[in-house]
Amino acid sequence: MQPIFTIFSCVFAGGLVAISLNSIEPYSYFYYNSVTVMMVIVFAVSRIQLKWGIIVAIIISLTQNLAMIGFGLMSNKLAIIAISNYVFFVSAVSALIGTFMVERSLRQNYLQSRILSIKNRDLEEFNLNLQYMVAVDGLTQIANRSTLDRTLTIEWQRARRKREPIGFIMMDIDHFKLFNDTYGHQAGDECLRVVAATLKDCALRPGDLAARYGGEEFALVLSDTSLEQARIVAERGRQKIMEVAISYKKSAQAHVTASFGVASLAPGSRRHSGPEALILAADRALYRAKRSGRNRVVVDGEPDSA
Ligand code: GH3
Ligand code: MG
Ligand code: MG
Repeated sequence: MQPIFTIFSCVFAGGLVAISLNSIEPYSYFYYNSVTVMMVIVFAVSRIQLKWGIIVAIIISLTQNLAMIGFGLMSNKLAIIAISNYVFFVSAVSALIGTFMVERSLRQNYLQSRILSIKNRDLEEFNLNLQYMVAVDGLTQIANRSTLDRTLTIEWQRARRKREPIGFIMMDIDHFKLFNDTYGHQAGDECLRVVAATLKDCALRPGDLAARYGGEEFALVLSDTSLEQARIVAERGRQKIMEVAISYKKSAQAHVTASFGVASLAPGSRRHSGPEALILAADRALYRAKRSGRNRVVVDGEPDSA
């Protein structure tokens, strides 16, 4: 827009000078003064940039002086020419200083708003990272214990409202202490990462959650899932861990296996006070899976199979 304002100002000023050339004294002087007034108004309205403002002022001043001197209109009135130039010069400088200050403060405001929006974006990113770090287990990158507890409480309340059952699976890697002792802690950590990723693939529906319960124990929350459906999910998880086949020479299968305890409760029933009942039932079943030979799925309430 700046070049357009520049051309507009020059044409406007040229028009006024042309009118003044065709006017009789003393009205012709008034037109020269009106050029100055016009320039100040155009500068203020257009917030012309300093560079373009100087160009406009120089062009108008040259045109004006050319008209005053060159066309001989006021050649005999040097005092009037000097006063006209003086008024023009002072007005031009004042107007340019004004527009320069406005321009500078606009630029500063713009830069400050950009800096603020960059800082806001950084803060949002930092917040997201923080939320992620608080919710996710650092080693396995799946939900951590506090996310599990929170999810279980929310799902429990939702299931109570909808009168639906919640499935819950506890899983524990078999003889993991010996695995660590045999292959070292780093191999143990890698094993935990692989098992966690495998288990995460079993929590497919929205509302399902795979989490690290602690150490080498993991849990799966399955919304609106009966005991039988939860058992099928646990069995799929057990098979998948077998298929991944993490080498473990000292185990009976020659690779890492895990035991599963499965429970499902409908929170509507008065007997169950809260999600702890679900954890307790799955833990009980897991204990029985360990006792009855490991690498198996045991369902809460089911008699021991071996
Ligand atoms: P069981 O079949 O009865 O479950 O036997 P287990 O050896 O797996 O059970 P136990 O609870 O005795 O051992 C768990 C081991 O898990 C002990 C600990 O060193 C290991 N462990 C727990 N957390 C981590 C971890 O973050 N990284 C590694 N590498 N090992 C861990
Ligand atoms: Mg354990
Ligand atoms: Mg174990």
